Amino acid sequence: KGKELGNGCCQHYHFDMGAQVSRRVEMEAELRIAIEEEQFILYYQPQVDFNGCIVGVEALVRWQHPGRGMIPPMEFIPAAEESGLITKLGEWVLQTACRQAKKWQDDGLPPIYMAVNLSARQFHQQNLLQVISQTIEQSGLDPQRLILEITETVAMKSAEYTTQVLQTLRSMGVQIALDDFGIGYSSLLYLKKFPVNLLKIDRSFIQDIDTEPEGGSIARAILGLAKNLQYTVVAEGVETVEQLNFLKKLQCDQMQGYIFSKPLPSAGITELLLTMLR
Ligand code: C2E
Ligand code: MG
Ligand code: MG
Ligand code: MG
Repeated sequence: KGKELGNGCCQHYHFDMGAQVSRRVEMEAELRIAIEEEQFILYYQPQVDFNGCIVGVEALVRWQHPGRGMIPPMEFIPAAEESGLITKLGEWVLQTACRQAKKWQDDGLPPIYMAVNLSARQFHQQNLLQVISQTIEQSGLDPQRLILEITETVAMKSAEYTTQVLQTLRSMGVQIALDDFGIGYSSLLYLKKFPVNLLKIDRSFIQDIDTEPEGGSIARAILGLAKNLQYTVVAEGVETVEQLNFLKKLQCDQMQGYIFSKPLPSAGITELLLTMLR
């Protein structure tokens, strides 16, 4: 069809499209194998409270590619989403995270939450509730220790469905966090309809604190309203002392970011938890 127009620019465009499509097909085939061979690993990033104590970790998946080394999630989650492979991968993530949390609990380490990300497609998968309840049951983890993170965009997509699913999860004891909050253009008052426990302020607003002239005004506004609405507020991507002090002054409940720790393999978290016992 491109040829009918008979212009080189158009051909070039189609050529690129073809390359893009074949890369995606290749990536999908590789992902399929990766899931079968369990080439994934979970890293865990600490979330600390006002006093700097670890209260939870967020599970973050990485792909240990046999030829290309460690691949970050932003480079393969979209392809996994598009191909539907996220369903399988997501189940593996949930299962691995719940088992790890149970293991820390059984080893007598300080009690912490385990936060797991759910993508849009996962959130809308048919048997979501069944998979979650089965995974919790099989792992033996106390459901109160599990936090599921969804973005506001995902939550807003179909408000009725979201309310129903979140209510069921809450009745199971699971907690819900709104991830990347503030970039989805939805109003907090609207989101208040959903039974959400935690609100994670997106990293971009935390960065603003020391890079913008009026920096921190959005973080301050979100924090003020969120606290009035009784959410537990978590700041994402805290990197500097300035950001930390600003958030402490505003009584931000929890923080997560490189200033405390990068995401670590499970053994690194075990170490940190052991030092809390001493
Ligand atoms: P997210 O859920 O918002 O996770 C936070 C991301 O910010 C992580 O990136 C984390 O490493 C990074 N981060 C934390 N603190 C800092 C900081 O101080 N500075 C900077 N620059 N970055 C920080 P990561 O691990 O690359 O994950 C990126 C995204 O991929 C996640 O964003 C999440 O949306 C998605 N993702 C990760 N694991 C999973 C998973 O198991 N399932 C699904 N569906 N999505 C996942
Ligand atoms: Mg998250
Ligand atoms: Mg986030
Ligand atoms: Mg983010």
